[in-house]
Amino acid sequence: MDLTLDLTHRSVLVIGGAHAARRSIARYRAAGAAVHLVTESPAPSAAKAVEWPRSADGWRGLLSTMDLVVLVGATPAIDTTIAALATELRLWLTRERAAATGPVGHVTLVGGGPGDEGLMTVAALRALRDADIVYFDRLGPHDRLADWAPGAEFVDVGKLPGHHAVPQAEIERMIVASALAGQTVVRLKGGDPFVFGRGGEEVLACRVAGVPVSVISGVSSAIAAPAIAGIPVTHRELSRMFTVVSGHAPFTDEQLAHLVGLGGTIVVLMGIGTLPQLSAGLARHGMDAAMPVAIIERAFTDSQRTTVASIGTVVDSSAQAGIRSPAVIVIGEVVRLAHDADVAAVELLDHAARLAR
Ligand code: SAH
Repeated sequence: MDLTLDLTHRSVLVIGGAHAARRSIARYRAAGAAVHLVTESPAPSAAKAVEWPRSADGWRGLLSTMDLVVLVGATPAIDTTIAALATELRLWLTRERAAATGPVGHVTLVGGGPGDEGLMTVAALRALRDADIVYFDRLGPHDRLADWAPGAEFVDVGKLPGHHAVPQAEIERMIVASALAGQTVVRLKGGDPFVFGRGGEEVLACRVAGVPVSVISGVSSAIAAPAIAGIPVTHRELSRMFTVVSGHAPFTDEQLAHLVGLGGTIVVLMGIGTLPQLSAGLARHGMDAAMPVAIIERAFTDSQRTTVASIGTVVDSSAQAGIRSPAVIVIGEVVRLAHDADVAAVELLDHAARLAR
């Protein structure tokens, strides 16, 4: 059961090693509590250190001034003593996991989804909760980081389109260095870490440095941005495959011919700059000029916008609309199902359903 307590100005006693309890201490301080730490092995810490009581009476005296007691990785003997006193004093007691104490920390690459906090996974929120340091960029959700990772330091390695605020090699160096210093590191990325997110490179950098690394998948904008605009990337009898491509560099003739030959839905990320070359190239390789195209800009933000056109008209339409990154481009019959498409999608659905029978 989860219980939300208002801990503002409340006295919280944390019992455990200073290093093991560092995250618990940070969390209760962030919640506004006055945090006291009792530890057998004093170390510099953010909480006021209290001397380790030598008798049950000593413990009783100390606990009676507290509102909440937190046991972090306590021995069975301490756990029994404190639990009995907490019952006697009608004191709230909670037990928490010790933070990693090994010399090397851990890196978790976390997919934050396309920007809507509702599309963060439970695993992503858990990883953030345990983080000592979070490296994030702008495409992922970041407004509420302070709530999600109350014990963490934040580093914005923000990448604006076409502009890497922090070069990739430097990001890799930083996450590895933090982990080698014993920290629990979260690298929070937009969408899914392995969909044009350079997640593979960051995993390799960790492996090379001997840093344990894991990956938490996220909801990719390649699927979620079309979906929020009403476009399913597959639809029975209409599209039985979807291809996700990066448009950051111009397409070769061979690639364009392949894309036309596939016949399914094409989803383009980072494709606004190369859209004129892509649409002209697809038409040149035989794609019907009437093939529908949708561009979904800034999906899941207040300024989300969908522009629907066709391969033949998309360059003019996007110039007129003043389309900008970040945007997902969808090419295929499924675009007819978009909320903003001005064609009779119902007829199309009906037709597809009849074919499927
Ligand atoms: N790993 C990410 C993609 C990173 S590449 C993912 O899985 O979603 C960056 C590109 O993703 C942008 O150029 C844009 O094409 C797309 N993108 C990401 N978030 C978006 C959003 N909220 N709205 C529109 N496009 C988005």
